[in-house]
Amino acid sequence: ATPTALLVGTGRGSQLGILIRGPQVLEQTRRVDAIVLDKTGTVTHGVMSISAVRPTGGVSGEELLRIAAAAEHGSEHPIARAIAGAVDTPLTAEEFAAHPGQGVQAVVDGRLVVAGRARWLAERWAIEIPADLVEAIAADEAAGATVIVVAWDGLARGAISVADTVKPHSAEAIARLRRLGLTPILLTGDNAGAAHAVASSVGIDDVRSGMTPAGKLEAIRELQQQGRVVAMVGDGVNDAAALAAADLGIAMGTGTDAAITASDLTIISGDLLLVPDAIRLARRTLGVIK
Ligand code: ADP
Ligand code: MG
Repeated sequence: ATPTALLVGTGRGSQLGILIRGPQVLEQTRRVDAIVLDKTGTVTHGVMSISAVRPTGGVSGEELLRIAAAAEHGSEHPIARAIAGAVDTPLTAEEFAAHPGQGVQAVVDGRLVVAGRARWLAERWAIEIPADLVEAIAADEAAGATVIVVAWDGLARGAISVADTVKPHSAEAIARLRRLGLTPILLTGDNAGAAHAVASSVGIDDVRSGMTPAGKLEAIRELQQQGRVVAMVGDGVNDAAALAAADLGIAMGTGTDAAITASDLTIISGDLLLVPDAIRLARRTLGVIK
């Protein structure tokens, strides 16, 4: 590979809005044959809005939302943005901590509040989820929503459902990736209902839901052990380990710094159509050299 041709390739990339960490990245880009895509913020806009507020045990919907909003204030996750954005005058939270792929904790008005996925609340915080809430969660998830449970002082206080929309170019980008010979796989920390709703609308049939950040990393390693050369596309803190482990890490420029730092390529606009463009560019650049 002549350095000049590689530099032309990376220069062409930046004209397209694809930042390439270094000329050597083009070789990895040319070789990938499997592409793992994160759902939220990558295949979908990652801009969520609240679709249901379901208080339980005597709490009002308004109080549930106000306390959840305070707890989520410090998180940059799309779920947190939807919930925090729904309240005009938020309470202040202290001792905030985010748990990537799981949820958040904070002290609000002297209460220890935890908000996140139901299983995390049950397993990490020993919160019992009442039957009415279990039913509501199942129904909302089956309809494609993402549901988080909010608890304080050891009791579940309700659930909040949020919904996202698929980016307009996602289905076309997946179709182009297939034509380039890549197998697409959808990986998400979200529930199975939301994962399958998105996967079927963009034409992906290999879907893995409920994945923790460590699980995402493990999925990349498994594919590599099967002999695949794996690209991973993601945007979140929860994707960073998987992006770093992939043969080619691709970050959405609209995503977090952690994802961008862990990646070889950054798609500045977050338009997924630039992913097949990057692969074609690498193949063309290195094809000329050979
Ligand atoms: P994805 O893989 O779709 O980007 P994440 O790994 O970021 O999803 O999150 C997985 C799940 O963890 C979410 O569906 C949600 O249940 C929970 N979660 C993550 N971050 C938060 C947060 N800030 N507040 C509440 N729940 C969260
Ligand atoms: Mg994401």
